[in-house]
Amino acid sequence: MAATRRPGRNHLFIPGPTNIPDRVLRAMHVPSEDHRSPGFPELVKPLLQDAKIVFGSTAGTVILFPSSGTGIWESALSNTLCRGDKVLTSRYGQFSHLWVDMAQRLGLDVIVQEEEWGTGADPQKIEEALRADKDHAIKAVMVVHNETATGVTSDIAAVRKALDAAGHPALLFVDGISSIGSLPFYMDEWKVDCAIAGSQKGFMLPAGLGLICISPKALKIAEGGTGRNDRLGHAYFAWKDQLAANATGYFPYTPVLPLLYGLREALAIVKEEGLENIYHRHHVLAEATRQAVAAWGLKPCAKEPKWNSDTVTAIVVPEGADAAKVITHAYERYNLSLGAGLSKVAGKVFRIGHLGDLNELSLLGAIAGAEMAMLDCGIKVTPGSGVAAASSYLRENPLHKA
Ligand code: PLP
Repeated sequence: MAATRRPGRNHLFIPGPTNIPDRVLRAMHVPSEDHRSPGFPELVKPLLQDAKIVFGSTAGTVILFPSSGTGIWESALSNTLCRGDKVLTSRYGQFSHLWVDMAQRLGLDVIVQEEEWGTGADPQKIEEALRADKDHAIKAVMVVHNETATGVTSDIAAVRKALDAAGHPALLFVDGISSIGSLPFYMDEWKVDCAIAGSQKGFMLPAGLGLICISPKALKIAEGGTGRNDRLGHAYFAWKDQLAANATGYFPYTPVLPLLYGLREALAIVKEEGLENIYHRHHVLAEATRQAVAAWGLKPCAKEPKWNSDTVTAIVVPEGADAAKVITHAYERYNLSLGAGLSKVAGKVFRIGHLGDLNELSLLGAIAGAEMAMLDCGIKVTPGSGVAAASSYLRENPLHKA
């Protein structure tokens, strides 16, 4: 009789949710408690301060919503913008597409700059559009920092320069869902107004906690600074209610207690490793993955090295091969979860998520599994070539700088 048990652990290499460190799992194993108790603020108040570090902010204000990242997109738009407001954004993958879709459905007038999938936001085009907007009708620029569908990172510092060069006062909203906590992110330096994150990626937690860091400028506008009364509707996602409750260390509604304890532990881990070390480790693991891809004779979806993401690599399979089959086979035969190709790139790419809590040998497991699955599916890569290239690179390049 075939065994039903799958021995060993699942190798989770989708680009979020990511692996949860055992310490975080243990920290979340808590009984329920009274979220209105006098002791509760002792948990909440430091969390709201400590989380800012991961955003690269001291000036910002963090709010935690029981939500996935998508809810935080909505909170950013609905707390700061009015019906019919113009927003400028670029579309180059499934997530930048979904944010456009949300903005349109909320009643915003969305100006979309279409970019080829495999590239990212074009600061020059953004600057031109802002310069042409003489009466400042554009109220916000929305950018997905790391397009998880294609493995592309856009240059937020350059986008900020574009706004400044155009002398444009639009708010800058950045989706950092698959970058914050893994890739360099400097909210204050880049003058980001709303930086959006989700718990299930760099924060190494389950999904369910949406995080936003808000600049003083965006907060002022949310508090009524535009003087307009045709605001987009919001109730559950109102920052005002959150801020009033948070000021005393509470929430306006029942918080997700285990995730708060998990966040406390995750932030302790981040502090121990150090953000710059974390960024370096992500770069080394990403580069090792890219070395494997090159050794296989394949290409990443990112069109040029400047677009390469250090959190996820989307690997284009050869013409005629089906990436979806590789993913299914990797899961069924080797208990390896690879990321699917989404929308336009479905069947054309599989993704290796290399973010969160992982090291050399965990990554090599994914590379070996991807290689075996490709070979089993008839994709002619040289056996062992990806593992050899990645392991040579990893032996030469320690995860942390000395
Ligand atoms: N934006 C990016 C860049 C993402 O990678 C994701 C999810 O993978 C989302 C938005 C949507 O986030 P969520 O699934 O947490 O709602």
